[in-house]
Amino acid sequence: MAEPLLSVTGLTKVYRGTPSIVGRLMGRPTLEVKAVSDVSLSVERGEILGLIGESGCGKSTLGRTILRLHEPTRGGIRFDGIDVSSLPPHEMKAMRRRMQIIFQDPYASLNPRRTVADIVGLPLRLHGLARGKAETRDMVAAIIEKVGLKTAHLDRYPHQFSGGQRQRIGIARALVSRPEFIVCDEPVSALDVSIQAQIIELLSDLKRDMGLTYLFISHDISVIGYLSDRVAVMYLGEVVEIGPVQAILERPRHPYTQTLMSAVPKVEAQGGRHRVRLMGDLPSPLDPPSGCKFHTRCPLATDLCRSQSPTSQTLGIGHHASCHRLGEDLNLQEEVTA
Ligand code: SF4
Repeated sequence: MAEPLLSVTGLTKVYRGTPSIVGRLMGRPTLEVKAVSDVSLSVERGEILGLIGESGCGKSTLGRTILRLHEPTRGGIRFDGIDVSSLPPHEMKAMRRRMQIIFQDPYASLNPRRTVADIVGLPLRLHGLARGKAETRDMVAAIIEKVGLKTAHLDRYPHQFSGGQRQRIGIARALVSRPEFIVCDEPVSALDVSIQAQIIELLSDLKRDMGLTYLFISHDISVIGYLSDRVAVMYLGEVVEIGPVQAILERPRHPYTQTLMSAVPKVEAQGGRHRVRLMGDLPSPLDPPSGCKFHTRCPLATDLCRSQSPTSQTLGIGHHASCHRLGEDLNLQEEVTA
């Protein structure tokens, strides 16, 4: 079987911070936040892997660590057979032509003092992909038209565009160097609902036309369900369930995934769902719960859950989840509404 385009193994990102002067005088230890904890997953060529979870669960950190925009603390990253995690900086810079990112906030991610031609042309100049100014401009014009803007827009500045148009500029910048893999980091969540569908359709068309592979990050299950081939569910830095989109949508097995899916409307004839509300807030990654990290909010938690981390279990082809009670085949909705 062909090697996946991307595979990560045991990927961990820990941020360390020094305590305040008072804290140091009192002998407080260095602060540690494990934003991504021992994540292993792969993405096949041409696939969309959706990554879902609440704000602050580590989704964006995982995406950026895969691209080494944040350096991993531990773990391996392989891209097209190359061990990306050990590449020296100059080789990593060349690799970035093939691995790009579309950011969440089109307002913050574009330099307000540069024209569209400059912004989108920058990757071509950085990677030496065009011969001279004329070819750079031609390549920029071609991608600008592909994302639904006009060549007349090339000499305008970001503030002259709407939110949706700015995101199209960000997409053009990510695609101009003809990458193979894109981390789409909540690319529609800062946009008006009316614009979101247009950008989702654009990303879907571009993926098909340009043979792209996406890690698509979102907290919106409808977006993830619409676009993804497979879905990974993240909670407090860990992937707690991963599987084909249909299995995750129709028969989620981890209690956290079941909670997320209960928010998706389903008509009564298909077996209507009751929304299961999560108890409390996401715990602080500065002081994560012992055992299963979801136990403080899980209605099915037992003493075992509070003391021991569950290991990943295989539930079907490509479907895995980490929970002590998977063998009991419990349905959270039935449990909480019984
Ligand atoms: Fe809930 Fe326990 Fe499963 Fe964690 S291991 S999700 S606390 S039942």
